[in-house]
Amino acid sequence: MSEFNKIPVLDAGYLLLVEKWGSDQRIIESARMSTNKGFLGWGDARKCSKCGGTGRMWDNGDKTDCNADGCVKGTIGTFGDEKLLRYLWTKKHSTPFEFCGLTIEVQAPIMVFREWMRHRTQSYSEMSARYTPLPDTNYLPSVERLMTTPIAMTRQAMSTGETLDGARASLWLESLRQLYDQEQLVYQTGLDWGVPKELARLAVSVGRYSRMRASANLRNWFGFLTLRLGLDVQAEMRAYAVEVSKLVATEFPRTYELFREERER
Ligand SMILES: Cc1cc2nc3c(=O)[nH]c(=O)nc-3n(C[C@H](O)[C@H](O)[C@H](O)COP(=O)(O)OP(=O)(O)OC[C@H]3O[C@@H](n4cnc5c(N)ncnc54)[C@H](O)[C@@H]3O)c2cc1C
Repeated sequence: MSEFNKIPVLDAGYLLLVEKWGSDQRIIESARMSTNKGFLGWGDARKCSKCGGTGRMWDNGDKTDCNADGCVKGTIGTFGDEKLLRYLWTKKHSTPFEFCGLTIEVQAPIMVFREWMRHRTQSYSEMSARYTPLPDTNYLPSVERLMTTPIAMTRQAMSTGETLDGARASLWLESLRQLYDQEQLVYQTGLDWGVPKELARLAVSVGRYSRMRASANLRNWFGFLTLRLGLDVQAEMRAYAVEVSKLVATEFPRTYELFREERER
């Protein structure tokens, strides 16, 4: 794990892979415990060296048993284990996917953590503002971000019926920036004067960046991605989910492909 591997998210956040365990292959091995067999291999079935046909493999791991008509004990390769992986995925035979997982470190605004931590099947360890001052880093969205919020959701002010324009978006962001400065002043003054850290943090808003580690097995990461990659998800939360999805795709490419296919259906 290196600082250089931090994946930037938003204006000051990041994602960092701390640890990965298991692999696409491990999912197959875990599933095959039920028949006391292991991983047979990826790729297409190879031809039988004796009869030249692909025969049909009995799912018993015996790679020398070609049962094609007229062929006894030829040598045949296995059918690719991607078939079993697909079967497990589509039939929701989920437990083998729990034998793999990821631990990641995340720096994100507290408002993102509020949503993220609703996922109870992940384990969390967050820096504690009771013991250590929070970094003076706050999320400042761009004008474009304010302007791309779906009109149906919030750009139409409920009280006045007015629609947000670029000038007001900029003005509002400037006010937010000043508010963050003021928050930091109150927070730091409290710390300097001996206000307990656990109370000084009252000055900090949900735009403040915090840091945590989140750990889950692969099944639950897919549960997280299913919910948090949706287009109705808040853009900031989704930005992190997109980066998580890239990590999962890199570490578990075959399983991720099944997830992707399913979402596109
Ligand atoms: C677009 C979007 C909008 C949302 N809006 C709101 C909102 O306005 N207000 C709000 O409060 N939340 C909101 N949420 C959070 C949402 O209600 C879920 O709490 C969150 O997405 C976690 O989902 P989960 O329970 O499936 O995940 P996890 O907690 O990781 O649980 C995974 C699965 O484990 C099982 N499970 C876990 N705990 C229990 C349990 N106690 N009982 C039974 N089964 C359990 C369930 O099968 C669950 O699907 C929103 C989420 C999304 C994606």
